[in-house]
Amino acid sequence: MALKNQSTAAQLDFLRKKNVFSRQESFSVKSILVTGGAGFLGSHLCDELLSRGHRVLCLDNLSTGSLRNIEHNLGNDNFHFMEHDVVDPINLPFNFLSLDQIYNLACPASPVHYQSDPIKTTKTCVHGAINVLELGRETGAVVFQASTSEVYGDPVQHPQRESYFGNVNTIGPRACYDEGKRTAESLFFDYNRYHGVRIKVVRIFNTYGPRMARDDGRVVSNFVVQALQNQDITLYGDGSQTRSFCYVDDLIMGFLAMMETPDTVLGPINLGNPGEFDMNELATAIIGLTGSRSKLHYRELPKDDPKMRRPDITRAVNLLQWQPRIKLDAGLARTIEYFCEDLALPTIEQNQAVVAEEPELLNVAHAN
Ligand code: NAD
Ligand code: UDP
Repeated sequence: MALKNQSTAAQLDFLRKKNVFSRQESFSVKSILVTGGAGFLGSHLCDELLSRGHRVLCLDNLSTGSLRNIEHNLGNDNFHFMEHDVVDPINLPFNFLSLDQIYNLACPASPVHYQSDPIKTTKTCVHGAINVLELGRETGAVVFQASTSEVYGDPVQHPQRESYFGNVNTIGPRACYDEGKRTAESLFFDYNRYHGVRIKVVRIFNTYGPRMARDDGRVVSNFVVQALQNQDITLYGDGSQTRSFCYVDDLIMGFLAMMETPDTVLGPINLGNPGEFDMNELATAIIGLTGSRSKLHYRELPKDDPKMRRPDITRAVNLLQWQPRIKLDAGLARTIEYFCEDLALPTIEQNQAVVAEEPELLNVAHAN
């Protein structure tokens, strides 16, 4: 049988016996699989890994991600895109049979998306974890899991430390994601204990920035898109629930710091920005930064929406020497700039320059 028709394990065994990996192992260039690599976080991760000279295999089913996020890398010889669903076993392409690292990010992250097909969400979390862990077992790659602050549910401990077991409604609408991610964490630790797979688990708190999809449904993208178009800002509940927002560049540095730790550092480690804001404050900040004429519009609070969330990042500071650097205003300004371009609107500076000359044009450029 042709080598390419055999299982990944059989192909690897054959290639190891022929010693074809020795050349690559002597370089620090790594071969890295990023699942969910065409998504918001995944595409920034791919960019950073490529900029460090690594070879990247980006796997995605393009359900919430987009080729637009990675199109600038498609001509790069070190970048390879594979359209695939992590629910199905992963057969590595011939040029990526030797893997050093796997980042598992494939999963919808917005409540709107993960609740639209909850059974698929659980499968993505659970089968996806098994499939990447099996690859880790076969290739010896370190496997990184993008877990989430949602494992803490609607927390009664505040801020949330990694030792907190959480408060999740197992039968509510968020459970497909929360319990899926919790099961994925269990699988990671079981594969480590039973099969010796090298693992890294981080719990990500709300992260925002350029390349969030404009119709993603998460709070930062919703508010910015609404404010830029002078539409009502949709505040759920009374807007007093809190979140902590981390800018994407900071988070990606945390991912890489985690991956560089010794094999004894498994996690879970919280990654997020401990600055805590309620949704009224966030809306006010975005209206201020965009100069918008939007009004606040209060809607029903979704079921099981966590009332408060803030990471305790002591572990990340001590073990990774990592902490976020970009403040909310600065990160929001960059995000607003991105959405101006995405929506084909003038930038805030261009708008202000026009307004300075012709004040009666205030915000006309941003009108519906
Ligand atoms: P995203 O929706 O932009 O990216 C997810 C990517 O995974 C998309 O490209 C999507 O097409 C792909 N995907 C989804 N299901 C798939 C499947 N079955 N097979 C293959 N690909 C699939 O979301 P994001 O914000 O970039 O989140 C990335 C990861 O980080 C997710 O695992 C998410 O749970 C985790 N996370 C993100 C945040 C955050 O605030 N951004 C917070 C906590 C955890
Ligand atoms: N939210 C809101 N308006 C929106 C979208 C979200 O008030 O248009 C609220 C939502 O109820 C939650 C918070 O913003 O309390 C963060 O929501 P998001 O979906 O971004 O993330 P998550 O709930 O998963 O933290």
